[in-house]
Formats: sequence, structure tokens, C-alpha cells
Amino acid sequence: MISALLPNYARADLAFERGEGAWLWTVDGRRLLDFGSGIATASLGHGHPHLSKAIADQAAKVMHVSNLYRIPQAERLAQRLVDATFADSVFFCNSGAEANEGMIKMMRRAMYDAGKGERFRFIVFEGAFHGRTLATLAATGNAKYLEGFGPIVDGFDQVPFNNMNAVRNAIGQATAGIIVEPVQGEGGVRPADMQFLRDLRAVCDEYGIILGMDEVQSGMGRTGKLFAYEWAGIAPDVMSVAKGIGGGFPLGAVLAKEQFAQALKPGTHGTTFGGNPLACAAGNAVLDVILAPGFLEEVQRKGNKLRTAMDGLAREFPQVYEDARGMGLLQGLKCALPVGEVQAACVAEGLMAITAGENVLRLAPPLVITDADLDDAIGMLRRATLRVLPSKAKEAAK
Ligand SMILES: *Cc1c(COP(=O)(O)O)cnc(C)c1O
Repeated sequence: MISALLPNYARADLAFERGEGAWLWTVDGRRLLDFGSGIATASLGHGHPHLSKAIADQAAKVMHVSNLYRIPQAERLAQRLVDATFADSVFFCNSGAEANEGMIKMMRRAMYDAGKGERFRFIVFEGAFHGRTLATLAATGNAKYLEGFGPIVDGFDQVPFNNMNAVRNAIGQATAGIIVEPVQGEGGVRPADMQFLRDLRAVCDEYGIILGMDEVQSGMGRTGKLFAYEWAGIAPDVMSVAKGIGGGFPLGAVLAKEQFAQALKPGTHGTTFGGNPLACAAGNAVLDVILAPGFLEEVQRKGNKLRTAMDGLAREFPQVYEDARGMGLLQGLKCALPVGEVQAACVAEGLMAITAGENVLRLAPPLVITDADLDDAIGMLRRATLRVLPSKAKEAAK
């Protein structure tokens, strides 16, 4: 008989009672170091006092009023995001897929308003992940995820990642824009070449099409900049954000330049929960921490430290790891063994890591991770590696 909770996930048999910082305690008292952060979402870790208090205080005052009224918490959060980015205006929603839906609608409608309604198609990339709604599934283009959910929403042309010739060849009379993740998270922690991002910017300007970035996973400080596009020295026209922006509270956003943002006039788009006082109180509390002087530099420093250790492991154990890749505190180890085995060994050592495409072990600790916890994690990862090492190599490594 089917379980009451719909079994659409392959869940590990772990249930958590509470957390503190990067640590989680299971209901039966085990302590685990969380290097998944609820898939790069619990950016401030667990039980962060400033975030917990902001949510509790706002919950006690007013949680939800609907977008029929002004919402000061949303106005403030939008202004702060505008001040910190390329964007002139922000739309709030509740998830990454919903942010991408909003971004796709904004891009199409902006073309329509410019008298170019025939430009409705998007260039997207192999290995991408944009969400599980019908349009974002089509943008994701993964045959496994699409199977049985047809007809596939039309308008997405998939080309190889980091391949500018393929992008140029795919641009046609119907192209509205390009949608790209600066770092493909689900696809295997694959960073875009920074030159590729600059070339995408240039080709969009050349053809008068729109550059959309999906920073749902790479954004909100994850790579050591507020947004990963900053590393390339360019800016998108529109951008989707979610995951880390609420620190675990459901919140998503579409950030856009005025020229594109103005396409979503009253009546064109909306959501009931999006940007309500509670969600925006959480978003503001997260920004308080991430925008504090020196915070992002610390993310960079800790990311480099983690990466150096991972590069070392990949060099020392080529039987287990093919390479290390990633940016900031979004790092991956491409495994030579089935990644599930490595992940299970990590859990046995007390380290929760997650997986990604291309047989990659993904490490995405809370951005507030301490050096001591980072050192612990590196030790656990090394011991986990020894656990899965083929026995002859194990003898040699001792
Ligand atoms: C997780 C993710 C999404 C989807 O976000 P949901 O909140 O699960 O809908 C979209 N794009 C990227 C890059 C993601 O990592």
C-alpha cells in the first residue's frame, strides 16, 4: 500500500530533530555535519539566532496579507537587492521553478511588448536544471525527467554547455533569449567558463536578445560573490533566485532591468504567497548576514580551503576521484566509483554530502561554516574515501 506521504523521493532513512550551525541531530541522537544545507538552501545553517528571531517576530505580528496591499518587508528586500545588483526591480515568488517560470514569462512578454512576439524561443544548455514545472522541465531538457509528461512545452533549444559555436548556430528569427546557470549545480557542479558568460553577454547584445541567468543555486553568496555572474564581470538582463535567499524559508525572486521588468504589468503575472511579510522578513535577515562587511570574502576563503583539500584528495586517490570542480562553497568531486557508495561512506563518518549529475559528490555547506567544522568535514571526507578505496590501494595508503 502506498505511504501516506507520497513516495516520489528516494529518501535516506534519517530524520532530524534539531540543528545548530552546520550540525544536525537525528531523532535517535546521532550528530551529523550538514554539507548539503538542504540542497544549498539553509545558507545560514540551522537555528541561526538572527534568522530564527526575525521569523518568529514577524510571525507573531502579521504573516500574510496578499499582494492586494503594500508589503513594507518586500519593498525593503527588493530595494536592497536592487542596490546590490544589476537589477532595477524584483518580483517575489516561492521557489526556484516558479522564479524561472516568471523569468520565462517576463522574457517572452518583453519581446511581445517590443513588437517581436515571434521571438518566443530560448537557448538552454545540456546538463541544465531549471525546475520541475512543465515549462522549466522543458528548459531542463533532461529526457529522464520529461518521460511521460508530454507534450513538452515548446520553445526551448538545447545546446552543449560552454560551446559558443553551438550557441551562435542555434540563434534564429524566433530566439527571445538565452537562459544559463553560471554554475550548473544539479548537472554536476559544472562552472561555466567565465569567457563563455562574457561571450553570451556579447551575443545577446549583438542580436538584441535577452540574457537570463538562473542563479537559484549559485546565487546569494554561494560562490563567494553575492551572485556568480559578478565573477565574469558582466551582468544578465533578468535573473532567477531562490534556494539560499530565504535561508530555508521558501522564497524565490526574479530580478530584472527596468526594460524587461516593466513587461509584467498588473494582470500579467502573480502569486498568492509570493513576497509575503513572513518570507520577506526571512529574506531580509539572510541579507543582513550575507551583506555584512567581510562575509563574502570569508565564503571565498573557506571555499578555497575546501577546494584545496578536495584537489589533494583527487590527486591522492585517483581510484576514487577523477577531479574536483566548483566555485566558493559549491564544490564537487567527480567520482570514479558509484557516487552513492562514496556518499554512504561519508554518512558513516558523520558527513552529509549530496550528489549531482555526472556521478559527482556535491558539497554545499552552510555559508556560515566555521573553520573547525570545515576541518572536521575534511577529515571525515578523507576517512570516507579510505572506506571506499579498493583494498590493495588501502594498504598502500596506510
Ligand atoms: C533547485 C534549482 C531550481 C528549482 O528550484 P525549486 O525551488 O526546486 O523549484 C532551478 N534552478 C536551479 C539552478 C536549481 O538549482
